[in-house]
Amino acid sequence: MNSVQAPAVALREGRFPDYPTIVVTDTGLQYEGGHREEQIDPDFRVLWELWGGTGGGIPLYGVFDPEVQREAADRLLCAHCLEKPDRAPGEGMLWLLRADAAERSWLADIETTTPPICLPHAELAFQRCVTMRRRYLAVRVQEVERVGVLGTLFTEGGPGDPDELVRFTETNRLPYVLARYLVLALRGATPDLTLHPDLASSPDRPLLEVS
Ligand SMILES: [Zn+2]
Repeated sequence: MNSVQAPAVALREGRFPDYPTIVVTDTGLQYEGGHREEQIDPDFRVLWELWGGTGGGIPLYGVFDPEVQREAADRLLCAHCLEKPDRAPGEGMLWLLRADAAERSWLADIETTTPPICLPHAELAFQRCVTMRRRYLAVRVQEVERVGVLGTLFTEGGPGDPDELVRFTETNRLPYVLARYLVLALRGATPDLTLHPDLASSPDRPLLEVS
């Protein structure tokens, strides 16, 4: 499997959650044997879930490696090559999103854990993969905001659902989430008409047939 076909952000076999025991205190979660203030992310004020393993295994498509996803989503790096995507002045940043996650009316505001993508890798994905062409939509985005995390919320009863969305504004819940993925809000998204030329000629028909 070469790097063209497997996005850098894809989780690979051999990676696994790997962290000390979680301790729930009055001020929030921390790993056993340390101090919460030294363990949390200084910018987002959350405790990140730590992962181990080599990452050299077979990629699991559609599942992101949490540690790679956070970095790529935070720094807005291409999900495939982890480079900063080139952009023409005034041109929005490019995202490839599952069509069922993308709204059908534009401009759209979309929340996602998917990092952006550079144009060469978006073109390559559409050229090489019929599933991408059928199921994914390329959108241009003018404004991006980091809005929260997906993770496991700990309560008095112990850990809950592993995919709980906790927003950075939820200051009462934020200390109690073991954060896995960074969530981005894409504002003012529009379909990329260069990658979807058929949409330019017939704007009234449904954007995609999603089976
Ligand atoms: Zn790329």
